[in-house]
Amino acid sequence: MSNQLSERIKNLVPSATLEMAAKARELRAAGKDIIGLSLGEPDFNTPDYIKAAAIQAVNDGYNSYTPVDGYVELKDAIITKFKRDNNLDYGRSQIVVSTGAKQALYNIAQSCLDEGDEVILPCPYWVSYSDIVKLAGGVPVEVATSIENDFKMTPAQLEAAITPKTKMLWYSSPCNPSGSIYSKAELRGLADVLQKHPQVIVVSDEIYEHINYGVTEHASMASFDDMYDRTVTVNGVAKAFAMTGWRIGYIGAPEYIARACNKLQGQVTSGANCIAQRAVITALLEPPSRVQYMVDEFKNRRKLILELLNGIPGFKCNEPQGAFYVYPDISAYFGKTLNGKKINNASDFALYILEEANVATVTGDAFGNGNSIRISYAASVEEIKEAIARIAAVV
Ligand code: PMP
Ligand code: GLU
Repeated sequence: MSNQLSERIKNLVPSATLEMAAKARELRAAGKDIIGLSLGEPDFNTPDYIKAAAIQAVNDGYNSYTPVDGYVELKDAIITKFKRDNNLDYGRSQIVVSTGAKQALYNIAQSCLDEGDEVILPCPYWVSYSDIVKLAGGVPVEVATSIENDFKMTPAQLEAAITPKTKMLWYSSPCNPSGSIYSKAELRGLADVLQKHPQVIVVSDEIYEHINYGVTEHASMASFDDMYDRTVTVNGVAKAFAMTGWRIGYIGAPEYIARACNKLQGQVTSGANCIAQRAVITALLEPPSRVQYMVDEFKNRRKLILELLNGIPGFKCNEPQGAFYVYPDISAYFGKTLNGKKINNASDFALYILEEANVATVTGDAFGNGNSIRISYAASVEEIKEAIARIAAVV
């Protein structure tokens, strides 16, 4: 009966990151010694002070449906966080709490896009953007960037991609998968282009904000007065607080977009989980310095993995400034045959190292850039050393 499925779902591409993680799990269950560097998930435990807030919430009897757009106390904590970290002023009616930043992004697409509306996605982009856009009837317009420009889109490239049908620009900074960060000046350059195109709404995904290695200061598009009214700032607690499974994300947005997301969410999931929301109040109100120890550790691992990868012929890396991924260009291997297997593209390469080296990564094809693979270094130093040694041995 699979032919009874909707065209929409038949055309939907599964999440490559989640699919690769599932494949790694399957192979591990079958007895293979797989090192998983595919999923963007901190290998730390959620900090104790956040866990304590969740336990307190259970004991205090939080069990009822939550307000669709989030507890008022959480919205106030988000407002405090936006002011403290980003100098952004939002009111309660501009905040919506969702089941992960992923749902927040889905809400935005469904709320803002009509059939045929174009959404500019600088490549590489986070894997789910293009399918979330397509599910809403939108048309992803991919803008290729180069490793030489640290995988960042220039104002001229943005200008060239805009058409009368352009409705939105979506990007993440720090970027998943490249680790690039747009400086305030670079964002200003993009904003200057957008001034000529007032119909374009910006989605600024800042979920890796706190995982920043100190070279380029975090900047928010909405902090420019002339962009505030048409930027949606997306954030969440999954990465910086090691809370991936707690599923809380949020937006600060122009009120009309926040209200639309709230309406949609009310018909689809209702408010996000009550215990997780209570815990996130504590996560956001405590100073971000309390989770700096994880960032420091990611920084050590970044140094290590870059050194190891740069020692493998045919691997070309940019220096990620944030997040916990490296995105090496491995196109030097295209057309070659390794251990009897022909490598035609990044997907072949990722599959090859999964099968031959037992290391799970993600093909760059999933991020709209087919010359690279994404390697997550949210893994232990031992795992990183072993994984890269195995890759080096089979290439
Ligand atoms: N945006 C980016 C750039 C991401 O890497 C992720 C992955 N978690 C998300 C959004 C979704 O985050 P969440 O887990 O909060 O849904
Ligand atoms: N965002 C993470 C990643 O890119 C988690 C998996 C997902 O949500 O796709 O690996």
